[in-house]
Amino acid sequence: MKKTSSPSRRDLLATAAAATAATMAEAAPASAQAGPKPIFPVPMTAIPIVGETSVFQVRRIYCIGRNYAAHAIERGSDPNREPPFFFQKPTDAIQNVAVGEIAEHPYPSLTKNYHHEVELVAALKSGGSNIPPEKALDHVYGYALGLDMTRRDLQNGMAAEKKPWEIGKSFDHAAVIGPIHAASKTGHFEKGAISLAVNGTVRQNSDLSKMIWSVAEQIAKLSEAFELKAGDIIYSGTPENVGPVVKGDVLLCKLEGLPDMSIKIV
Ligand code: MN
Repeated sequence: MKKTSSPSRRDLLATAAAATAATMAEAAPASAQAGPKPIFPVPMTAIPIVGETSVFQVRRIYCIGRNYAAHAIERGSDPNREPPFFFQKPTDAIQNVAVGEIAEHPYPSLTKNYHHEVELVAALKSGGSNIPPEKALDHVYGYALGLDMTRRDLQNGMAAEKKPWEIGKSFDHAAVIGPIHAASKTGHFEKGAISLAVNGTVRQNSDLSKMIWSVAEQIAKLSEAFELKAGDIIYSGTPENVGPVVKGDVLLCKLEGLPDMSIKIV
């Protein structure tokens, strides 16, 4: 090893401390804590916020299953307000889609029946446990349009064997999302048309008012099972007429009050 003039240990420590302080102040998210540096830097998952230079850092991705009666029926369950159930996707499954862009979305491995599920997504600025429904919306920072992309054949296959569906729901790029809009500007979403078209043909077409469990109720129920925190996002379930896409298909998602979101399957 090449010998260089070596600074004293005290100098090294002082330099390191100053560098750490500068890094923490300038670059790290407010929630970061001082401590050992990671040996390999891992990118932070974040979602752009419309009208803000700051981004929304994602902590966890929760999804609610069968939250529209007609979709519950098509998936074989009773729509009569059986308790909501939840699953998670890995945080780095996020695929951000900018407004006006047609984002290329890779057709995933292993599946021959790849399905679209258009959904409203709520993004939390705070959380807690056992949050009462009447306080739940106080924790929502904003909303986005999302796609809970699903390898349906794998999900169904695992369900038939009473095994976890994870491989059907939790894979790279499976959490497609548009930018977040602050609820302070848009208000909360309790009703409004939601739709998805494939190559110009409308496939899913419903209204948020048909959700079995509202966003507030979803947060309340979810917080009984998990301590929710800032950075958590919740895919709130899809309406009926989920269906397959193939390479080359262009999907156009619409939610009343938000800009459209579009992807092309490649
Ligand atoms: Mn879904």
